[in-house]
Amino acid sequence: MTLTTDRPAAPPATGRPTEEPLLRIRGLGVSYGTGARVLDGIDLDARAGEILGVIGETGSGKTTLARAVVGLAPVTTGRITVDGTDRTALRGRALREARRAGAVQYMFQDPLRSLDPDLAVRHLIGEPLAVAGIPADVRAERVLTALDLTGLDRALLDRTPGRLSGGQRQRVALARAIVTRPRLLLADEPVSALDASNRNHVLRLLDRLRHELGLAVVVISHDLDSLAGVADRIAVLYRGRLVEQGPAEAVLTRPLHPYSALLAASAPGLDRTRRAGLALLRTPSPAAPADAACVFAHRCPFADADCRELPQPQPRGADRTAACHHAPAWREHLSR
Ligand code: SF4
Repeated sequence: MTLTTDRPAAPPATGRPTEEPLLRIRGLGVSYGTGARVLDGIDLDARAGEILGVIGETGSGKTTLARAVVGLAPVTTGRITVDGTDRTALRGRALREARRAGAVQYMFQDPLRSLDPDLAVRHLIGEPLAVAGIPADVRAERVLTALDLTGLDRALLDRTPGRLSGGQRQRVALARAIVTRPRLLLADEPVSALDASNRNHVLRLLDRLRHELGLAVVVISHDLDSLAGVADRIAVLYRGRLVEQGPAEAVLTRPLHPYSALLAASAPGLDRTRRAGLALLRTPSPAAPADAACVFAHRCPFADADCRELPQPQPRGADRTAACHHAPAWREHLSR
């Protein structure tokens, strides 16, 4: 298979110049004790009122990315700026105060595990406010507002998590996350444990809340299908590197990285035109060099000697980057 190399000379660019992103990540690297890099060279933005979907399989680093933003994963290189504040530079008291203020909130993957089983809903939702030192009367009022915003019945206020349905528990986790009036919400696999009906309900809720509260929402998911209806933009991670990002519709229907194409073609209900290319996308190239630097080379149908060099995210049109030496030329092979 012969492919042309098409490498733009311009430096990587993310974000629309007219809108300052609420979340700005530049050159993010995360390593754990063994020195193994879990994330490397990540540049990513999210704007107020926007839902950014972050997709990747197990080991892609997507949860680590979210945890790094809230300070739960060790940042070894790069910067994470939220609303103009460099979170990676915060230390000691400044860090504790920023956490208490709750401008950045994280919704854990499994509400049954993350919510204290002995606390009633009113205390679960009010807890972040108590930690922030908000007086009890104001707290009670804001708990009710959060309850209403997430469509939870006030009759549930005195129930513990074990007496709630899965959908109700996830909405309690959401109410708890928004009660501090955050600017940025990171939702880690928010619908993976829910049935179809509750899944749609929670996704619609996130969609409404980002508008009503002007929130930037980052939804972490392994499931492209669930991001399709709700994300404005999608970022695709593979083995700790950002391989593609751009407007959701463009990434889903005209992917520029072979891994994004594989995800889109494999997702039930998503691929409308390229199912025929699935077999090709699942066939690794025999020409892939053993010493390829591209993280996807061992699975890539289009890998060749050029892929010895690590591909960096390059701008590919407005608000879009892809890290592949042969984008978009490889796409021609799908239509053959
Ligand atoms: S750079 Fe990576 S994704 Fe692109 S053709 Fe080479 S191996 Fe495949």
